[in-house]
Amino acid sequence: MQLDGFDVVVVGAGFFGAVIAEQVASRLGRSVCVLDRRPHIGGNAYSELDPDSGVEVHRYGTHIFHTNSETVWRYLHRFTEFTGYRHRVFTVAKGRVYSMPINLATVCAAFGRAMTPDEARVVIAAEAAAHGAAGIGNLEDKAIASVGRTLYDLLIRGYTQKQWQTDPRELSADIIGRLPVRFTFDDRYFADRYEGMPADGYIAIFRRMLDHPRIAGHLGVDYFDVADRINPRQLVVYTGPIDRFFGYACGHLGWRTVDFAREVHDVADYQGAAVINYADAEVPYTRVHEFRHLHPERAHAQGRTTIYREYSRFAGRSDEPYYPINTAADRAMLASYHAMTASRPNVIFGGRLGSYKYLDMHQAIGAALKTFELEVEPFFAQQGM
Ligand code: FAD
Repeated sequence: MQLDGFDVVVVGAGFFGAVIAEQVASRLGRSVCVLDRRPHIGGNAYSELDPDSGVEVHRYGTHIFHTNSETVWRYLHRFTEFTGYRHRVFTVAKGRVYSMPINLATVCAAFGRAMTPDEARVVIAAEAAAHGAAGIGNLEDKAIASVGRTLYDLLIRGYTQKQWQTDPRELSADIIGRLPVRFTFDDRYFADRYEGMPADGYIAIFRRMLDHPRIAGHLGVDYFDVADRINPRQLVVYTGPIDRFFGYACGHLGWRTVDFAREVHDVADYQGAAVINYADAEVPYTRVHEFRHLHPERAHAQGRTTIYREYSRFAGRSDEPYYPINTAADRAMLASYHAMTASRPNVIFGGRLGSYKYLDMHQAIGAALKTFELEVEPFFAQQGM
């Protein structure tokens, strides 16, 4: 494989890498080689048809597109149409079903009676104040200060324990922000201005982005196996884990991972929604995804559906990194890695793995468009190329 003939080598064919490759080829007219160690493009947004049900499934978990950015929304429309899908999530707890994120319907159901917004505010505030006297020491204290004891015990405690495999009283409060409570019956999961599912799937977006005569690609290739074929003056845009790039010289950054167990069921509809959370600590999985609900406009074959059960745990060294843990020690380590990037001026780090940040898709796309303007274009301008 020849790599030194390309103007840019992009490591990673997820949203960040695909946007950079597309911009370099279409706006600068330069050649790009995209490498990915996986056998497919699309990164974690990859989707494929399940061979047993014919339903489009998201191998790395349900991905809903949403954004407030006009720029990102307009940019993606060059590669796809969106459906009018609106995401709604439910939580099963102690044999009952609740609407999430917590809204007035959730509060009324949890307390077993109808309430006005003001009545609900008073009830939650009273519970939060009763607990708050002890101050905020851990994640449990902070969650109760936001949603009160009843909702915390019912919907948050068991779920958090499963996510972190740790009692929430032993988790640091700064892992979570303030938990939102909506005192209206608005039950949409995302509040963004734009939301939808790509009409013909995520994979179609990536095929169109990368379908350019100046873009070549190699799948199933790990950058570190071919790095010695790259000319040190060539530009590399690296979207893999930043700690791996530097040989873990400052240590391993902490991640949580998830495992998905796939099941095909001979029913037309398994659970009635795309995502159902399971809050009870005794239920081992955190969520069940049923992908057919993401595309109600499609004529799916009747009588078969695919679900994924999601299990959450700390990532081992060989696991897929999904969510940064981001402890104070992680942040200090990240700062050391940032300092090391100065020694590699021809490498631009980006994406969720390269920046060690949870990014939604619109954030990864927005960051890539900015990186192209602020770092990639100037790189060639400075070289007078
Ligand atoms: P990635 O998509 O991870 O792409 C990085 C690529 O780099 C990967 O394909 C990887 O194989 C490759 N790579 C890494 N190291 C190497 C190497 N050494 N050599 C070659 N290739 C390498 N966002 C939303 O907006 N909505 C959602 O509903 C949503 N749901 C999510 C659910 C889950 C469970 C998770 C984990 C994330 C979710 N996201 C969601 C976030 C979304 O997945 C990310 O925003 C997006 O994947 C970021 O793109 P990226 O290019 O930065 O990273």
